[in-house]
Amino acid sequence: MGASHHLSIHSKVIDELTSYCHEQLPAEGYGFLAGVGREITHFFPLKILDPSPCSFGYVPEVYWETIKKIRLSKLCCLGIIHTHPHLPAYPSKSDAKYWERPELSCWILSFREKQKKLSAFQIQSGQINPLIYEIIY
Ligand SMILES: [Zn+2]
Repeated sequence: MGASHHLSIHSKVIDELTSYCHEQLPAEGYGFLAGVGREITHFFPLKILDPSPCSFGYVPEVYWETIKKIRLSKLCCLGIIHTHPHLPAYPSKSDAKYWERPELSCWILSFREKQKKLSAFQIQSGQINPLIYEIIY
């Protein structure tokens, strides 16, 4: 394990995704986290069709448009974020079961406590591993 495994995220990205996701409450907020290498520099919100918790039921046109936008910006998709309005910042059973993108980090922002909590994980074949990330100011 070298420094290359370390994830970092710009603080402005956290500000952006937090205010976007806050606006979506009481619904969950979803989005892509994009950047270069292991550094997340951009947040791209994603609309969902299915309001049930941890559904990842994206609007297909918006999903592909966003992927295109990320590629045109010469960025890579590095992670997917969704919120847990009432659950802790830890993958739910369905998050772990249906996560199909082991190459992407799974970010969860929880509004359960007064103090919002943002956590990152790697999920592979139902196995959940917490990821350490650094905030770049
Ligand atoms: Zn979830």
